[in-house]
Amino acid sequence: MKRLGLDIGGTKIEAVVLDEQGNVVYRQRYPTCKENYPAFLNSISGIIQEAEKHVSETLSIGIGLPGTPDPQTHLIKNSNIQIINKQHFVIDITELIGKPVAVANDANCFALSEAIDGSGMGFHAVFGVILGTGCGGGLVVGQHLLTGPNACSGEWGHNPLPHYNPQRDGITSRCYCGQDNCLESFISGTGLERQYHQNYSKHGKVPDIISLVRANDVTAMQCWDNFLDQVARALASVVNLLDPDVIVIGGGVSNIAELYTSLQQRMAKYVFGNSCGTPLIAAKYGDSSGVRGAAWLGHQKINQAFQRNKEDANERYGASGN
Ligand SMILES: [Zn+2]
Repeated sequence: MKRLGLDIGGTKIEAVVLDEQGNVVYRQRYPTCKENYPAFLNSISGIIQEAEKHVSETLSIGIGLPGTPDPQTHLIKNSNIQIINKQHFVIDITELIGKPVAVANDANCFALSEAIDGSGMGFHAVFGVILGTGCGGGLVVGQHLLTGPNACSGEWGHNPLPHYNPQRDGITSRCYCGQDNCLESFISGTGLERQYHQNYSKHGKVPDIISLVRANDVTAMQCWDNFLDQVARALASVVNLLDPDVIVIGGGVSNIAELYTSLQQRMAKYVFGNSCGTPLIAAKYGDSSGVRGAAWLGHQKINQAFQRNKEDANERYGASGN
């Protein structure tokens, strides 16, 4: 069975169909419908139908979202697409299209994609990190996403920056989530720009700052050096807690070659025992990881349901051949 993945973003939706080997056999982009919730649901249903019509077969379906279905209430929470917050999106879309749909946070989809056939392929425990506008993450163990009773596994962006020191990290930064000094306020692309402005009184986007670093601009180099130290502190805390076999980095910041040159060495200072052998690798599929992970997730859901049915049948009627 081929796998359909949808990556729903704040402005666009990407749909991809993967064959059994992970090759893309269909790809389409749509604007995100944010008119109202019923219109949003209908647009998703239409996108799924169009993909099935194009490949002329029934597909497993997975959807990656900004936000997460709350495990207790099943309502979507923490989404920047306001119309889906507090909605039973998983139930509603399943009823509308009449088929099982797997839904997960977009950072989790990214981690799953990279663990299955991306830069984390062959590693048992993969921590996938997105350093972009924000700072997200997901943990995959044995090619399966780790989820828990709060559906916030991997949400390290809202942990506080370790070893925060106002002299080097600047004044306290209030995060939109209500907490102070969340990692996201420092080690995202937005965080780098904020610090360049607040701590050094300069304006610039990430590519401008990096160009200046490459031109040996002293201020930009200072800002970048402390940014690297912040990333190292943040990742060392992940190693101290989980010690994943690999850390795969995605998002806009992951494309900066200078991120990797000294990061492992910098992390060693903060990892318990003062050494660090964790491989740090850029994501293989870049922006496509989210949609690919959604496709794999849908397929895993169908497989799990099939396995459960088989076990139920064996329990009821006895395993055939015995
Ligand atoms: Zn926060």
